[in-house]
Amino acid sequence: MADLGKILVTGSSVAQKHLDRLSESGFRVHSVPGLLSEDELGTELESCTAYLLGGDEFASRAALTRAKSLKVVGFLGVGYQSFVDADAAAELGIAVTNTPGTLTNSVAEFTVGLLLAQRRQIPSYADDFRSGRSGGEEKQHDLAGHRLGIIGLGAIGTRIAEIGALGLATETAYYSRTRKPEVEERLGIAYKDLPSLLSWAENVVVMVPDTAETRGMIGVDEVALLPAGGITLVNSARPSVVSPAALLQGLKSGRIHTAAFDGFYDADVPETAELLALPASKLLVTGHIGSLTHDARDAMAVKCIQSIVNVVTGEQDSYVVNRSS
Ligand code: NAP
Repeated sequence: MADLGKILVTGSSVAQKHLDRLSESGFRVHSVPGLLSEDELGTELESCTAYLLGGDEFASRAALTRAKSLKVVGFLGVGYQSFVDADAAAELGIAVTNTPGTLTNSVAEFTVGLLLAQRRQIPSYADDFRSGRSGGEEKQHDLAGHRLGIIGLGAIGTRIAEIGALGLATETAYYSRTRKPEVEERLGIAYKDLPSLLSWAENVVVMVPDTAETRGMIGVDEVALLPAGGITLVNSARPSVVSPAALLQGLKSGRIHTAAFDGFYDADVPETAELLALPASKLLVTGHIGSLTHDARDAMAVKCIQSIVNVVTGEQDSYVVNRSS
């Protein structure tokens, strides 16, 4: 077996079976589960040919410049931009790869789970039962036959639309940057502009990335468009897509009847404390865990390791994101 050199594996989410697979491929595996500083990372990378980036560190230009033998940074996930300077890596001749498509279903299922949880008040009623307050529950609404609006019909948004339209029989519409006629036809869903979608929907799911254009996309003006009866709002994209002031105002006014977020605003955002003091019946928050399944994490590791092996052995790889032209 050829010696492929030393590989640095960061973070703690890569299961032993995947580390074993790296060893069987010819790598000498060096695993560092704790968070590395820029200087520590640079020191570690000096002796590596490959780097599986599964931790929370940022692989900066300065750290990568010290990695004279490094051929590849395999990023475990999709949003590599927040974890590695891919342009600097390209200039230094280091490929960066990512693992698109591996968490789509897991995040979509979790998002639909949050929608069902809040729409039917499951966490709140479960809490009532445990604390002896059962008996006062109020009627809620089904999802079937009710209006679901999806903002952002990308990979995850499309999977949510499939589950909604085909599995739960929701009346489904979407707003997204680009229209998707083939998805509209396949799923029987409608396109609406954002104001029309917001004034139409009974349930809204936010699934756009965090960019300069999408930050605060759901603001106070947008919340004012929501039906007076109030909606269920689920945001498992990035919290910043919904302005915290708009969320608070919507929950207070009832335009947002109930909400769920996977990932939340930082503690220093002025509205955070007041929002988190609301009961679960109003606001359910989880810690950005939508992709935390064995299925997604295994698929990510397998794809990432295959890309790393491809690059180090000189094979073509489809998941290199920083190819220099
Ligand atoms: P994706 O396939 O890139 O889809 C994003 C969609 O948003 C695309 O359809 C895109 O339009 C649309 N979009 C982008 N900018 C827009 C704008 N300004 N206005 C309207 N639509 C816009 O991404 P994905 O895989 O579905 O993931 C979506 C987001 O989910 C990620 O960015 C991330 O924030 C979040 N996420 C959360 C978790 C979790 O654990 N909770 C895990 C993974 C991802 P186009 O079709 O024109 O490109």
